[in-house]
Amino acid sequence: MLKGKIAIVTGAGRGIGQAIALALAEQGAEIVLSDISVDFLKDTEAQIKALGKSGCLLTQANVTIGDEVNEVVKKALDTYGKVDILVNNAGITRDNLMAMMAEKDWDDVLSTNLKSVFLMTKACSRTMVKQRFGSIVNIASVVGIMGNAGQANYSASKAGVIAFTKTTAKELAKRNIRANAIAPGFIRTPMTDKLSAEQKQKIQEWIPLGRMGEPKEIADVAVFLASDASRYVTGQVIVVDGGLLM
Ligand code: NAP
Repeated sequence: MLKGKIAIVTGAGRGIGQAIALALAEQGAEIVLSDISVDFLKDTEAQIKALGKSGCLLTQANVTIGDEVNEVVKKALDTYGKVDILVNNAGITRDNLMAMMAEKDWDDVLSTNLKSVFLMTKACSRTMVKQRFGSIVNIASVVGIMGNAGQANYSASKAGVIAFTKTTAKELAKRNIRANAIAPGFIRTPMTDKLSAEQKQKIQEWIPLGRMGEPKEIADVAVFLASDASRYVTGQVIVVDGGLLM
């Protein structure tokens, strides 16, 4: 399905990013793995090799820093000559009630979750425009649509990702570049491992399908959006949350 395609995945060292990298590789894409720590990436690389692939490109970068982001894209182009798919997945939480939230926690979340999407999209769009082809998949969140007490910074960043996705979809459509977002609900990853057993129990009770999601369940939708199967889909937000938001 993705043979011959080159994909960059940020935050690919674990959780949803790792699952997306594996799923894209499984469909035949060559993967540029990027994360702030190269140690986690080695695990993703080993799993990709176990699929029978010869390897992938490992790039260490902090997605909040423009020069580091540009270097990832440069390495991808030096190695593969093009970038077809960009998955903006890296993200963090720094939860607190808004009235208690530290300014630094606001800034860190906004720059990791939202500024990063601008930096990476801008860097990849140059080559995608030249190619007249590209699929950008941004990982947002249901809380970017519905809000969530204790996540003013995070929900604002994800609402920003959704608006940014729609704007880039409009700006780049004429060059045959699509941009879509996935809004996951609660997914079992290191990010949600931090929740207490009681919080997890409560969350499960809210979800009509009665359980948290698995990273692979987000990755399967990312493969659809990255591939030509979704060639007439752009500017959309696909909610993948077990029915939490409806
Ligand atoms: P995760 O397990 O914490 O993984 C996030 C990855 O991003 C980690 O490898 C992390 O590296 C990396 N990262 C963090 N800051 C970075 C930076 N400045 N530069 C480069 N990489 C950075 O999180 P996840 O649950 O898989 O979440 C992935 C995405 O899905 C995020 O955008 C998140 O907001 C979104 N999401 C998750 C859920 C959920 O329930 N899990 C729900 C909705 C949306 P370190 O760990 O080394 O910092």
